[in-house]
Amino acid sequence: MTNILINFLKKYKKCSHKNALLNTQEGYCPDCGEYLVKNYYIVRCACCKVKREAKIYWGEIVPADKFCTNCGSSEYYIEKTDKINFIDANWAIYLKETVNETKDSREHIQIWVENTENIKYISECKKKDC
Ligand SMILES: [Zn+2]
Ligand SMILES: [Zn+2]
Repeated sequence: MTNILINFLKKYKKCSHKNALLNTQEGYCPDCGEYLVKNYYIVRCACCKVKREAKIYWGEIVPADKFCTNCGSSEYYIEKTDKINFIDANWAIYLKETVNETKDSREHIQIWVENTENIKYISECKKKDC
């Protein structure tokens, strides 16, 4: 009985949510019933900060090319956002994630925001009362 339940949960977890959020930013997956939000990720060069083409490799977001075409660095960081502008949409990878998945990381996540000269960290906060 327990094994059956575990197998069921594993299977449940593997839903790719391919039919979910086709036209919306968030909502329930029609295949597994999970509440999902779209999160966007942009890969940037850690050295010169240009946006780099991204791809998903074994579930990880990685740059499509090994080295930055602008400065030759292989270091990168991933910027996460739940809203995206038109220009960034060309570079972004989006994932459909459950709210629980994103909630943990969201509390700790720090987003890079570009100022004219300085790069600052800002904590993303979704709570209305702060
Ligand atoms: Zn699903
Ligand atoms: Zn670079």
